[in-house]
Amino acid sequence: MKIVVKMEMVNDKKFNEIVSILENKYKNVGYYLNFKTPIDLLVAAILSPQTRDTTINKLTPKLFENYHTAADYAHADKAELLSYISSVTFANPKAERIIEACRIVDEKYGGRVPDEKEDLLKLPGIGEKTAVTILINAYGKVEGIPVDTWVIKLSERIGLADSKNPDKIEEELKSKIDKKYWHNFAYILKEHGKELCGSIPHCSKCPLNGICPKNGVTKSL
Ligand code: SF4
Repeated sequence: MKIVVKMEMVNDKKFNEIVSILENKYKNVGYYLNFKTPIDLLVAAILSPQTRDTTINKLTPKLFENYHTAADYAHADKAELLSYISSVTFANPKAERIIEACRIVDEKYGGRVPDEKEDLLKLPGIGEKTAVTILINAYGKVEGIPVDTWVIKLSERIGLADSKNPDKIEEELKSKIDKKYWHNFAYILKEHGKELCGSIPHCSKCPLNGICPKNGVTKSL
């Protein structure tokens, strides 16, 4: 039988203290997928769901060597494109999304990845999190906080947000975190999750021990 303990939200003072400690500990952390151009980033981001970053970063050098522009992808032979991305999960639908998204970018936006969120959201394979990610990392436009599974999991566990809904979490975080931290906050939480606060939290080694409510953790009986 599983009991999920109701999470406890930290107050504003603790919230800022937590953000500041995490910012300080992970100050050199940044976006984790390698890319040189907005079209590289668009493609890497479409490949990313349910696939390890290391897998994406391992395959993209060869991929980017052979495909440079939206038109290159739009006119790609799907079997050939698949030969570069076969190590990702759901490679076939992702190849189709890449080709279609790049066709739209090529035909509708003259080959330039759009820099408006509403335009990005119309591309296949691009949801809210990815659109915000592209705007931040390709164009330096910080309009939100990308909410991925790490942000969902840790925001609840640490008491930073009172929801499992990505949109509500983003709004809650945005209302409390200084905008200067938005661009990196998701990557900081991800790093914290990987280093200390994964499925088995290492609380005794964690700089948040003593502040973090450690609630929201599922306990098995
Ligand atoms: S490792 Fe423990 S103390 Fe640190 S954030 Fe995770 S649950 Fe909280």
